[in-house]
Amino acid sequence: MAIQLFVPNFRVDECLEEIRECLEKGWTGLGFKTIEMENKWKEYTGLPHAHFLSSNTVGLHLALHMFKTELGWADGDEVISTPLTFVSSNHAIVYTSLQPVFADVDEYLCLSPEDIERKITPRTRAVIFVGIGGNSGQYEEVVKLCKDRGLILILDAAHMAGTRLNGKHVGHDAHCTVFSFQAVKNLATADSGMICFPDQARDERARKLSWLGINKDTYARTVTQGAYKWMYDVEEVGFKYHGNSIMAAIGLVSLRYLDKDNSYRRQLAKWYQDCLAGNELIRIVPVAKECESSRHLFQIRVSNRDEVLMALNEYEIFPGVHYRDNTDYRMYSIGANTCPEAHLASKEIISLPMHMGVTVKDIEYIAGTLSKVIKVAR
Ligand SMILES: *Cc1c(COP(=O)(O)O)cnc(C)c1O
Repeated sequence: MAIQLFVPNFRVDECLEEIRECLEKGWTGLGFKTIEMENKWKEYTGLPHAHFLSSNTVGLHLALHMFKTELGWADGDEVISTPLTFVSSNHAIVYTSLQPVFADVDEYLCLSPEDIERKITPRTRAVIFVGIGGNSGQYEEVVKLCKDRGLILILDAAHMAGTRLNGKHVGHDAHCTVFSFQAVKNLATADSGMICFPDQARDERARKLSWLGINKDTYARTVTQGAYKWMYDVEEVGFKYHGNSIMAAIGLVSLRYLDKDNSYRRQLAKWYQDCLAGNELIRIVPVAKECESSRHLFQIRVSNRDEVLMALNEYEIFPGVHYRDNTDYRMYSIGANTCPEAHLASKEIISLPMHMGVTVKDIEYIAGTLSKVIKVAR
């Protein structure tokens, strides 16, 4: 049977039970389960605030919009970002009429603090750090650098649900952390995300702006103000970015299993490591040592990647690539040739199948096939 990169593992009966509650109550939108999901997420991560959104992409946009308007950034001010990410991280910068400036990655495939420093100009306002595959890379150095240089730090934690750094869940020391609960992420719904600010004022503004700028959510108004539910104010233009109770219902179930699933992912990673050890043609992307990664991804590097991928497909193994160097895309070509490490990595990386259905036997088969096809492909 074919081995796919990702397969979500929904606990169907539990999800249906949570969704049934929404349908029976007649409440599928903002409020009810979204509040429960926010509370459970705060409890799980220890983060002081959390607001449930319809995706991570909108969360990154909302964060940049909020900082730009609050701090008076000008159009064309710069945000340092990685070329090795899903385009959402960089599109968010463009949505806000800010300028993405690409910095290079390190051996962890995360932003290199040295190269961030080199790319800082008088117009630099913020850094978006992506914890690729759940790996924190040199995040702590980046936190320190941003603090020293007065830059806003946004953590794109799309892969980091359950990642702990020195024993503590990630997200505490960024100015804003945005998670993704998209269908193939390690905490899956269908589409949703969470935006977490350390400070209450920004959390409150995010709640307002994610619902078109309306200053109270419908649920709170229905519950607290009864007949006066139309009596709200709109102080500034917002977006339709909040999440809904159906997604939150699925998220609540996935969250119950997050630690268990992540620990199985780490077990898969260990099996991969053991099975691939000693093969000089395969380099395993390391995880920072103080990081307990969610292991959203297990990434290796090979020099003849495209050939290896094609050959694996013939054996019904379907890995992925995270990601194509964004500066190869026409719209980000302004960054071409500015990040040689990311450019090289993007031609060498393979993400091996990583989901709850992968077994130790599958991994032995994948590792065995890899060493066979690497020899042939060379
Ligand atoms: C998936 C992903 C996003 C976007 O998440 P959505 O919830 O699908 O909007 C952003 N950044 C990274 C690194 C991702 O992998």
